[in-house]
Amino acid sequence: MTEQYQHRARKRFGQNFLHDAGVIDRILRSIHAREGERMLEIGPGQGALTEGLLGSGAQLDVVELDKDLVPILNRQFADRSNFSLHQGDALKFDFTTLGAAPGSLRVVGNLPYNISTPLIFHLLSNAELIRDMHFMLQKEVVERMAAGPGGGDWGRLSIMVQYHCRVEHLFNVGPGAFNPPPKVDSAIVRLVPHTTLPHPAKDHRLLERIVREAFNQRRKTLRNTLKALLTSEAIEAAGVDGSKRPEQLDLAAFVRLADKLFEQTGAN
Ligand code: SAM
Repeated sequence: MTEQYQHRARKRFGQNFLHDAGVIDRILRSIHAREGERMLEIGPGQGALTEGLLGSGAQLDVVELDKDLVPILNRQFADRSNFSLHQGDALKFDFTTLGAAPGSLRVVGNLPYNISTPLIFHLLSNAELIRDMHFMLQKEVVERMAAGPGGGDWGRLSIMVQYHCRVEHLFNVGPGAFNPPPKVDSAIVRLVPHTTLPHPAKDHRLLERIVREAFNQRRKTLRNTLKALLTSEAIEAAGVDGSKRPEQLDLAAFVRLADKLFEQTGAN
């Protein structure tokens, strides 16, 4: 038995290792890594995707939290000149230390589901470095990211991800592709940071604040949920009907509300 199979998957690290060769191949084809590209893999695990990424000739950095996986990864890949391993927490990793040119970094990962949302927000705080991202996530998280206004999936995650990126839900993956199988369905998503933001806010922190407040009580009207931040008149002046619920508003309308708040804060 090889060391690879002796490693017991750890729940606390969200370890569900991909073993379906067809799924691995489909993911690698979607990513389509090429020689010389700068790539970052989050959570390589036992190297299911790593092998194919290295084979493309791309320059690959990997960040893995589980110390026990380090010797397994090094045994397989340390002799490849295009491989660099960083043991540590991707949530705390400073991506600027990789020295990738702006807009060049391609990020991939079959992410531990418990950290996927904070990790994506951490990556988006360095969006200017990133060319694209391909992630395996819980299917319902991908549905929320890709959702449009008007339905129950449209919320804080959809708005903040779509503020920064174009979102493509590529395909779904069933639990049988993993060992051990997770209890939920998964999906592959492609996120491509906008080179020019389609709806830039004057201060994106105010956008985050407005969106968080609005969706804290998604069944209430905006006039009600935003009253600590904006008067009914200010909401109307932003071209938004205050009697609507947050899920009825598109990204552009949320940005107008955030800019109205910016004007107010600036005036105080
Ligand atoms: N890429 C492998 C695959 O597809 O088989 C493993 C995927 S597994 C779902 C998630 C991986 O992320 C595990 O190897 C786990 O140890 C690692 N991980 C968990 N939390 C992490 C963190 N905060 N930073 C970096 N890696 C982490």
